[in-house]
Amino acid sequence: MPSYDLNTIRAMCENLSVFKELWCGNSLGNRYIPLTPEEIVQYLEQGENFLLLKIGIAPEHFDAWREWRGLNGDALCAAKTKRGTFCKCRTGSHRDFDDWLAAHRDEYCAIHGGDPQ
Ligand SMILES: [Zn+2]
Repeated sequence: MPSYDLNTIRAMCENLSVFKELWCGNSLGNRYIPLTPEEIVQYLEQGENFLLLKIGIAPEHFDAWREWRGLNGDALCAAKTKRGTFCKCRTGSHRDFDDWLAAHRDEYCAIHGGDPQ
């Protein structure tokens, strides 16, 4: 693992105000997350997981949060097909993370006995 020079990062932050906020791109929903020089070192060492903690996502929900982002908040049916794979039907769309977490692969689509959307 590379080591990062905190003094260099501090100097960069003093001279480049834009560096104080990290553009996180699509995987974190196009948001700015202000970081201190110390936090920039943590980000460089830990990657996106550090940013997820910073925005309040618990470590046990990291994978689920990424799946929620990938599905744009759409919860998917809990039923399995004859082949043993999950049904691909949605049971709700554009849910916020907590709603999605409760519904994803827990509710059933209309085909599998759930409420029609
Ligand atoms: Zn289904």
